[in-house]
Amino acid sequence: MLQEEKVFKDPVHHYIHVQDRTIWDLINTKEFQRLRRIRQLGTSFFTFHGAEHSRFSHSLGVYEITRRIISQFERNQYEDWPQDEQLVVLCAALLHDVGHGPFSHSIEEAFDMNHEDWTCRIILGNTEVNEVLKRVSPDFPDKIAAVIAKTYEKQIVVNLVSGSLDADRMDYLLRDAYFTGVNYGTFDIERIIRLMRPFNGRIVVKASGMHAVEHYLLSRYEMYWQVYFHPVTRSSELILRLIFKRAKQLYQSGYTFSYFYKPLDALFEGTLTTEQYVRLDEAFVQTAFSQWIYEEDERLSDLCQRFMERKLYKYVEVDSLDDKMMNRLRQEWEAIGLDPEYELNVDSPSDNPYDVYRSGDESTQQHIWLLDRDDQIIELSKQSNIVRTISGLKRGKHSIYFPMDKLREREHLLSPDVHQLLFRRSK
Ligand code: CA
Repeated sequence: MLQEEKVFKDPVHHYIHVQDRTIWDLINTKEFQRLRRIRQLGTSFFTFHGAEHSRFSHSLGVYEITRRIISQFERNQYEDWPQDEQLVVLCAALLHDVGHGPFSHSIEEAFDMNHEDWTCRIILGNTEVNEVLKRVSPDFPDKIAAVIAKTYEKQIVVNLVSGSLDADRMDYLLRDAYFTGVNYGTFDIERIIRLMRPFNGRIVVKASGMHAVEHYLLSRYEMYWQVYFHPVTRSSELILRLIFKRAKQLYQSGYTFSYFYKPLDALFEGTLTTEQYVRLDEAFVQTAFSQWIYEEDERLSDLCQRFMERKLYKYVEVDSLDDKMMNRLRQEWEAIGLDPEYELNVDSPSDNPYDVYRSGDESTQQHIWLLDRDDQIIELSKQSNIVRTISGLKRGKHSIYFPMDKLREREHLLSPDVHQLLFRRSK
């Protein structure tokens, strides 16, 4: 315990309270401080200019929500809550995102990495985080890594950090709504926390809290479509992926970059050590991009310029897109001198790995459970019409992304139907 409680001012939760020495020491490690230099929403700032908040602030928020939930459990002395797990839960909540890289989702796709693996490597490896955790007990880092990997023996602990109604999701919805400035992400978190209970090894919500939970899921639904899957954000993620792809291709073909520094080589070779990985942040990546604008390779230069100056690809939405149409577009692209590999991309509804709530699935981790007055638990969608309606809902449009500026220059070469498709409806 700290002699004096430490407090962070936070725009979402008002204050974040730190009482444990271990939590305070973890916050002050270099690996955790790196999260200040990684944005929570990656490239969303191109769409919502306020979305510059960091994974540092989100991680503190997840810690704070978890702290509030378990202090509620302890205040009420619920027997089903394993009190000796308190520090495990708090550390796992704080560290759950410590392995996120710069522009996570795009970099992970481009280099086949996974932030959860990196989180575990940072927790278990030769790092300051590991140093602090080991001071609690020699096996403490393993416990935290097991919670992150969802293999921890006490599932109620995993449930709090990553379930369907977990501290992670509650924080990011509120925080992302606040910083993007949209009105969709809000819900009554105080009420949800007050009605959460530990019950037979899992987290449940008292049935009287159902409407607050419905509101939370509706907020999630709206945030996905209005913010997370915004087509302009998708377009900027695409440019990022293409930059990584091009740079890696050039590196592998022996191209000499005029601007290149470590550990880009290890990134391209897939041999990053933990020590090298934590040197990556968004400032690092953006510095490379701003320099690569001057590279001899025109493709890399063009993509980096697009990213730095927000000259993104435009898109058109179509209801259906079959292989025949795709081949047609590819041929047309080649005929007018564009490269379909880099200048034609499709985002299909099936590319969105997302479900607002899965009712049919048997995995209990993904369910939300209500506790009625007779101490019976009911799966949320059995009780809520609203949740039944929105679970499994997908939106069915395909988006075709392309460099509008280059197509405009070649407009007269396009066949009439393709011309109609691209220019009548593009945004
Ligand atoms: Ca998170």
